[in-house]
Amino acid sequence: MDDEELPRITPAHLRRGDDMCRRRLAREVHSGKRNVNQTANMRFAVSNRIEEDARLAQSELGPPRAEAFVEPYELEPEQRALYRAATRGYLDAFGDATAQIARLDFRTALPDLGVELSSNLGLAAELADGGRELRKVLVGAQRSARLVDPVETRVALVRTEEWAPIQLDIVVVDVIEQRRAKHTPDLESDRAEAREWIGDRVERVLELASDPRPRAGRDCQGCAFISGCAKHPG
Ligand code: SF4
Repeated sequence: MDDEELPRITPAHLRRGDDMCRRRLAREVHSGKRNVNQTANMRFAVSNRIEEDARLAQSELGPPRAEAFVEPYELEPEQRALYRAATRGYLDAFGDATAQIARLDFRTALPDLGVELSSNLGLAAELADGGRELRKVLVGAQRSARLVDPVETRVALVRTEEWAPIQLDIVVVDVIEQRRAKHTPDLESDRAEAREWIGDRVERVLELASDPRPRAGRDCQGCAFISGCAKHPG
């Protein structure tokens, strides 16, 4: 099977596939690149922009260049204020770190499971000493939320096998709330656990998606597949 045709599984599907509307789940899993979630893109406009500029700021080995963070005039005034605060938070957190940011793909094919894993891994920093650091930048997460999410971590472990074969730090920073967490996994045992967990969950998600009954509920908000849905006629 061509990679383009592989079902696409995201961390959200792994985490809450059992609770999702199955029609939405099935469409998201099987519509691949055609399903571009514009709503999410709008909501995360500021964090997307911070990530892009942070990438430019360290496109070559060195500390981040502050001038790469350019006021995003295409965004709303509130979003621009948030962007400025987020930039300050990012430079506070990583301003002294010499690194080069690599660009990792948005998806990784898992041929043995017959799917691809799709997620934003964050910023892939290659440090001066050869170390690998995955930076996840949050722009104002809920205070109660854990910074290091176990599902995202498992997906990151499986998706970075080639990029970070022997060492990996996962650093999550809320650049607005100025919270920071660092997780250093035991790559051998944690990757083995992650592969097994993801394998089990992928099997379950594909099973759920094979019976795409619509179920109206909170998933309807922001659903890209409301058109033609029997729960929302007309
Ligand atoms: S609109 Fe609601 S019921 Fe219909 S597919 Fe989307 S989430 Fe499911």
